[in-house]
Amino acid sequence: MTAQTAERDLTAVIGLEVHVQLETETKIFCGCPTDAAEDEPPNSRTCPTCLGLPGALPVLNEAAVEAAVKVGKAIDADVPTETRFHRKNYYYPDLPKNFQITQYDAPICADGELAFRVDDEERTVTIRRAHLEEDPGSLQHAGGSIDTADYTLVDYNRAGTPLMEIVTDPEFRGAGEVRAFLAKLEEVLEYLGVFDAGRDGSLRVDANLSIVDAEALAEDRETALATANRTEVKNISSHKGAEQALAYEETRQKNALRRGREVEQETRHWDESRGITVSMRSKEAEKDYRYFPEADLPPLRVADWRDRIDIPELPDARRERFRTEYGLSAEAAAKLTSTKQVADFFEDVAAEFDADLAATWVADNLLGELNYRDMAVTDVDDRLGEFTRLIELVDADEITTKNAEEVVLRRMLDDGLAPDEIVEQEGLGKTDDDAVQAAVQEAIEANPEAVADYEAGEDGALNFLVGQVMQATGGSADPGAVNERLRAELDG
Ligand code: ADP
Ligand code: ZN
Ligand code: MG
Repeated sequence: MTAQTAERDLTAVIGLEVHVQLETETKIFCGCPTDAAEDEPPNSRTCPTCLGLPGALPVLNEAAVEAAVKVGKAIDADVPTETRFHRKNYYYPDLPKNFQITQYDAPICADGELAFRVDDEERTVTIRRAHLEEDPGSLQHAGGSIDTADYTLVDYNRAGTPLMEIVTDPEFRGAGEVRAFLAKLEEVLEYLGVFDAGRDGSLRVDANLSIVDAEALAEDRETALATANRTEVKNISSHKGAEQALAYEETRQKNALRRGREVEQETRHWDESRGITVSMRSKEAEKDYRYFPEADLPPLRVADWRDRIDIPELPDARRERFRTEYGLSAEAAAKLTSTKQVADFFEDVAAEFDADLAATWVADNLLGELNYRDMAVTDVDDRLGEFTRLIELVDADEITTKNAEEVVLRRMLDDGLAPDEIVEQEGLGKTDDDAVQAAVQEAIEANPEAVADYEAGEDGALNFLVGQVMQATGGSADPGAVNERLRAELDG
């Protein structure tokens, strides 16, 4: 190693190509459903178009274009007057036509950006383009691995699922930033209602990484990036996978450079189980694909689509509004906007109660209990009325907060019962005044020692008496009120 290379300040530069499946009912160029039925047989959700049979023609799904325009608005991208489709030619068994219908020179979205936070720093990355294309089918290698399989099966059920390929500029400085970006991207896409993060394989990342000299980068960024050899890591299907693959790749390339070796410009494969990237092939260049216009799909005029299509309030804006409009803490606002469904649920509750009360019940109690049961707000959003009734019972002092939290809410989730039914079954209605008063008297008479201790100034004695009353009333009295009554009796 020369002293010079050892001293060089090397820095990582990363750019992403993220493929996300758009949530539409049918595929992008045919009427086949996109939703996989449980245990569906391979190649059952197909037709001549998505099987690429000769003569079958594509018909563009309007819903896919609408979803793409929503994404464009959310990332503040330009949507052109006219968008076009191209054929990207390559031979691979998951691609029945031997070309993929994609976009090339007139993508549906260009020049957008996405802001995200990482380690308390606000970052914004440019999204160079985001285009529509069709998903290929999927391959199943017998035995699991492409290297060792005796044969490979192909399933075209996925073929034709609408994809959006989102391409960033090379602006990420490390694997951690990439992970934070992907989380933010998914959050925004889910808010738009165009994406389901829970769907298997709904997000796939190709990650490009190069190591450049920090000085050269500062001097002339464009040249430094254009001349750097980079690798493209494919087959990444999770945020964590992206972070691990890029951290690995950064170390591998830095080590090579420090040993005076070149980094080869190549495509690499992320081997999730081994936690390493392996060389696949030399990187193909654009000219390898022989892009040409898709003659079966006319150019699509989308000039007014951006104005015509509405998108919901996005997570950052909603978080901010929750703070100003409801006076919530940053932490509560973040929790209550974690998904659009949670935020909608909270706002429905907050419409009926004080915002603090609504926030406590949704953020702390409901989300906590749901989380514990591996449930989501979407599992209970049709029970909004029951949930507000529960808060009403507490608010009107008809049941204690403790019983509401620990008995009623839990049984609502576990047994699917309405709050009033549970209150009735468990006898949780607050004990009426007379019964509490009688229990207070009884506790005083039955415990002269505790009374003497209290009078001698021992505060613990009062707690003991409160406990006696709570026990006598089966926990249905309000501890604060019991405390007050005891004091009134003893002090008066
Ligand atoms: P290609 O034409 O080879 O596909 P592009 O310019 O279209 O290259 O970029 C593809 C992806 O590679 C983009 O996500 C981009 O941000 C990323 N990229 C480009 N140059 C670099 C680099 N020097 N280091 C890391 N990523 C890069
Ligand atoms: Zn089809
Ligand atoms: Mg490219």
